[in-house]
Amino acid sequence: MSSDAPRGQATHDPHRHGASSHGFDLPALPDAVDIFDTTLRDGSQQEGLSLTVDDKLRVAEQLDHLGVTFIEGGWPGANPKDEEFFARAPAELRLSTATLVAFGSTRRAGVRAEDDEVLRHLVKANTEAVCIVAKASELHVTEALRTTVDEALAMAADSVAFLRRHGLRVFFDAEHFFDGYRDNPEFSMRVLRVAEEAGAEALVLCDTNGGTLPHDAERIVATVASSVGCQVGVHFHNDSGCAVANSIAGVRAGATHVQGCVNGYGERTGNADLSATIPNLSLKLNIRTIPSDRLERITPVSHHIAELVNIAPNPQQPYVGAAAFAHKAGLHTSAIARRRDAYEHVAPDAVGNGTRFVVSEMAGRSTLTFKAQELGLELDSEALAKVLDTLKVLEHQGFHFEVADGSLELLLRRATGWEPTFFELESYRVISDHNGRDMTEATVKTAIDGARVVATAEGNGPVNALDSALRQGIGGHYPVLAGIHLVDYRVRVLDTGRGTGAVTRVLIDTTDGEHVWTTIGVSENIIEASWQALFDSIVYGLVHAGPQERATTR
Ligand SMILES: [Zn+2]
Repeated sequence: MSSDAPRGQATHDPHRHGASSHGFDLPALPDAVDIFDTTLRDGSQQEGLSLTVDDKLRVAEQLDHLGVTFIEGGWPGANPKDEEFFARAPAELRLSTATLVAFGSTRRAGVRAEDDEVLRHLVKANTEAVCIVAKASELHVTEALRTTVDEALAMAADSVAFLRRHGLRVFFDAEHFFDGYRDNPEFSMRVLRVAEEAGAEALVLCDTNGGTLPHDAERIVATVASSVGCQVGVHFHNDSGCAVANSIAGVRAGATHVQGCVNGYGERTGNADLSATIPNLSLKLNIRTIPSDRLERITPVSHHIAELVNIAPNPQQPYVGAAAFAHKAGLHTSAIARRRDAYEHVAPDAVGNGTRFVVSEMAGRSTLTFKAQELGLELDSEALAKVLDTLKVLEHQGFHFEVADGSLELLLRRATGWEPTFFELESYRVISDHNGRDMTEATVKTAIDGARVVATAEGNGPVNALDSALRQGIGGHYPVLAGIHLVDYRVRVLDTGRGTGAVTRVLIDTTDGEHVWTTIGVSENIIEASWQALFDSIVYGLVHAGPQERATTR
């Protein structure tokens, strides 16, 4: 889709100008673009995503820690939660790099700007900047809004002017811009011009239905950027799977303001994923986005936000996913370890991620050696041979260490002679009772430094009850456990084909807020399988907790 000089011939000059073979010129690449995160507004339209005001404040803190330029906080006036967010933000959010933005729409048809509720709420939100949405498609004006083209233009102009009179910086979201432009470019351009004349700081071209392809995004943004005087922004939805590509095409075509969401949250297929857009712009096009020394925060922040919005991170997410730099064992393992740059498109450290060697029963000695090195463990050849044998036996029983990095690490640590001594299990018991309400009760008996602890807790299922009882028993000795919790629990029944009945495999994902680890248990008994995975999950968390927590053991 390159419309400029072929890459191979142009690598010496990244700021080259484009050829005009497609009927438009590309400007020089910008030095910097503003990153505008809308997780708290557009992103929270995602199915199943619901944030309390506290959650929103914590997400905003993370976004500021990452260093985005703007954080769109929500729509004051549209719902009380967002109003409360803006009311609490000044006292509770200490933003160091980001500017908070309130979102709203233009005035309604036939109402004066000063009498419009939405605009009044925007002023009251008390932010330095606001973003308002206006219809930029003639079809939407006449069919959805059911008003005239002239009134639609007046609504845009009056609203921007009103907000400017109140001293606000105004971002202008031109809704359905790309579709509207394809149908009737003249009207869509007139909307932008009146907004610019009224004092908008950036004209943000929105692909509201998300169906645009990169070559069209580039052509349309280039045409707009060359005919308006103010900053041009882009806002892409991912319905064609091209939101990140479109955002980059937009920047190449002259946009210097990019909207999206960390982890690509949003309704339907989501918004442009800033976790990929930011590294693409920074590392590949050398364009300043967030401060360069903070790029390594993007993986932890992406995981932390996934945690806050309570959606399990996607391991296959580019740059920040757990599998983004995972190499499956095989022929090339030793070559990968020697020359990672030959197998990885960027250095994983640059985005705060890491190389991971995936170990399975297919794995040979060398993969396991690299895995041990990765963990800083010394395994002699005898120990290594023993681990390989153990691994084979366990995988035959139904363990699958490829997807359980946490349990694999503990297995390797044990091979060095290490044994976890955080607590000793005496026994556990689970009672499930259907008596009007489903309730499970678990008792876990442990010993810590010789002292016996018996703890009983209730839960909505066996894993939850066992987890609660274990924590109740040992949590006092290990306060760090308060920050560690389960995020996902998966069960699979395996047919071993041995005629001894089905075997259950349980996988548990656990997080400390920044990292996620997976542990595994296998048994004919689902509760025993769950316990194994839970035990590993807690032990792994304690192994990786700070030394002060570990010092309480020996
Ligand atoms: Zn949107």
